[in-house]
Amino acid sequence: MQDAAQMPDGLQLYQHGRDDAHQRQISLIRDLRHAANGGGLHLHFQPKVDLEHGRVYQAEALLRWNHPIYGLVSPGEFIPLAERTGSIQLLTAWVIEAVLRQLHIWNGRGLYMEVSLNISAEDLSSLTLEQRVTELLQRYVIPGDQLVFEITESAMMRDPERALTMLHRLRALGIRLSVDDFGTGFSSLAQLRRMPVQELKIDQSFIRELDDTCGDAVIVRSTIDMSHALGLKVVAEGVEHGETRDLLRAWGCDTLQGYFFSRPLPADAFEAWLKQQPHLAARPLKEPS
Ligand code: C2E
Ligand code: MG
Ligand code: MG
Ligand code: MG
Repeated sequence: MQDAAQMPDGLQLYQHGRDDAHQRQISLIRDLRHAANGGGLHLHFQPKVDLEHGRVYQAEALLRWNHPIYGLVSPGEFIPLAERTGSIQLLTAWVIEAVLRQLHIWNGRGLYMEVSLNISAEDLSSLTLEQRVTELLQRYVIPGDQLVFEITESAMMRDPERALTMLHRLRALGIRLSVDDFGTGFSSLAQLRRMPVQELKIDQSFIRELDDTCGDAVIVRSTIDMSHALGLKVVAEGVEHGETRDLLRAWGCDTLQGYFFSRPLPADAFEAWLKQQPHLAARPLKEPS
């Protein structure tokens, strides 16, 4: 290792870089609270393609933050910061309300959509979550079964007893529950079976480069089969290629999501996308039986 005295410029540069990163984190943490009160947040919607009905009547809402100085900051960066610094519940509250407001608009136009949104471990221990959702469902006149909450397996397993209680309460409101990023945590299907979930989302790391012969194929096929044996629907996320769609269809996967169909889009662009997909878009836009 070279010592600092031999490369003062390099060292300075490094420290400078680290200070910038540190400064950015501090600003982001500080500004998150303001953002949660309505500054610079918006939602994108990514279609989920139902293979059985050959239709799109589901979407995942993904949070976007346009920071006044840094511009678009990815949720991969700011969500973990919000989780660590106690702002996540404010963000989640904002997302739930924004989703319900959008569903209210779509329902009013006869566009039936079920929207999933992401819930963090910290939300599951919050006593106000259920109360807030109940109020908002009433205010926007949305049936609970138009909402799906996506929760990672690690979030569920952090405090399983507490999560179990909250999940049952959310189920009682009609909300469906989905296990996000399945395969990246350390829980088994046996552990998950205790949770009142209806859907598994196979993590995109197994899907993106999927082909018939790779080791992931075995994992994906058996996850689909076991999920069905347990009465769960299966979503594959990260579908980027037509070949991947064909394989997943042949293996009986229920729902697909990924760049192959569409990137996450602002609400109006999402609607425009739906209109351009007559073969995928919901027909008279009524709930499938
Ligand atoms: P996630 O819930 O697993 O969401 C899927 C992520 O994969 C999204 O990234 C989506 O844009 C991306 N994606 C979808 N299809 C493809 C594909 O075909 N290829 C590739 N490479 N990526 C694809 P995004 O929007 O950057 O979100 C990242 C993560 O941030 C989410 O992962 C979720 O864990 C978290 N997140 C996003 N919005 C929220 C939110 O409102 N609340 C919470 N708590 N977390 C959120
Ligand atoms: Mg998700
Ligand atoms: Mg995921
Ligand atoms: Mg995730």
